Amino acid sequence: MAKNILILGGGNGGTMIANKLRHELSTENWNITVIDRDNRHIYQPSMLLVPFGLDDAKKIVKPRNKYIKPGINFVMDEITNIDTENKKVSTKSGTVFEYDFMVISTGCHPDPTEDEGLAEAMGNDVFTFYDLDSSIQLGKALKEFQGGKLVIDISSLPIKCPVAPLEFAFLADWYFKTRKMRDKVDIHFVTPGPGAFTKPKATKVLTKIAEEKNINITANFGLGLANGEEKWIENLQASERINYDLLVSIPTTIGDKAISDSGIDDGMGYVPTDHHTLKAKKHDNVYVLGDATNVPTSKAGSVVHYEVDVVLYNILSEICGGEAMPMFDGHAT
Ligand SMILES: Cc1cc2nc3c(=O)[nH]c(=O)nc-3n(C[C@H](O)[C@H](O)[C@H](O)COP(=O)(O)OP(=O)(O)OC[C@H]3O[C@@H](n4cnc5c(N)ncnc54)[C@H](O)[C@@H]3O)c2cc1C
Repeated sequence: MAKNILILGGGNGGTMIANKLRHELSTENWNITVIDRDNRHIYQPSMLLVPFGLDDAKKIVKPRNKYIKPGINFVMDEITNIDTENKKVSTKSGTVFEYDFMVISTGCHPDPTEDEGLAEAMGNDVFTFYDLDSSIQLGKALKEFQGGKLVIDISSLPIKCPVAPLEFAFLADWYFKTRKMRDKVDIHFVTPGPGAFTKPKATKVLTKIAEEKNINITANFGLGLANGEEKWIENLQASERINYDLLVSIPTTIGDKAISDSGIDDGMGYVPTDHHTLKAKKHDNVYVLGDATNVPTSKAGSVVHYEVDVVLYNILSEICGGEAMPMFDGHAT
């Protein structure tokens, strides 16, 4: 009887590992199933461009099953429980999937309910380009903006694509210059990190560029409270407040609810993962890929590309009776 490989999440990581495994393993011996809650693959980097009219929201959404190869079973359902002791996964529809090997690639997402006051403020001069609907609304808000203080705020780290918020600030500088109203807009970049970026060399270069563009940077500011009525944000120590007219927020980012509900997370919804083999630390026959891991590297599509070959090699190695090799070195570019 054929054995089962179950892949949780049909985003970047899930799609790539499913296709690569299908290429290597015969359909007689191995069933491969990908579960995702929907059939809408969003090209996430373009959510940064949509507010500035540099990409079209409709064009960045594609059906997932177009990219999942024939011979792979694609199931559209919400994963609700992961039972690694009995090697079973349950979904909202009541289906139970058994696995011999599993890859968890459920990603991560910004969750404004994790930040006090932020969920209530969202939509009212507060938007995030980390979500497609909010990114579209932000585009309208930017168009209507007549001037004032534009604050770009990262609630906490880690976030997906750590450089994207600063890219937003640079694009905002270009956008308002193009509209010939840059002198009416005060652009303010607020981060819990030590500076413009997380790495010192890049920070030096990016700080200089920000200064040239007249972008104000506040570092070491972790979000403690947002007040959508009075339009300010406050740091964790409650010692500093920053007012805004328009707030571009990157809310606290967490892993998927199914991971935390199943009790296999690190407290933030990420699966404790061996940094080099990408095997789940506490569960046999389980690998973790992409943003769902707690590996200390960028949460980025580029990282998923490097990780996928490690997961592929190690699953094939285990199938052939070998061991998982510590091949991932954490590089992101
Ligand atoms: C604004 C922005 C800009 C970015 N720019 C870049 C960039 O320039 N370069 C770069 O390399 N990366 C960039 N990224 C990051 C990149 O998009 C992600 O790191 C990458 O998509 C992660 O792939 P993944 O497979 O781990 O997760 P995802 O692609 O997010 O896939 C996770 C999948 O799991 C599914 N899922 C989760 N939970 C469940 C559940 N319970 N039931 C069913 N399905 C579930 C989701 O529906 C989703 O399809 C950017 C991201 C954003 C938001």
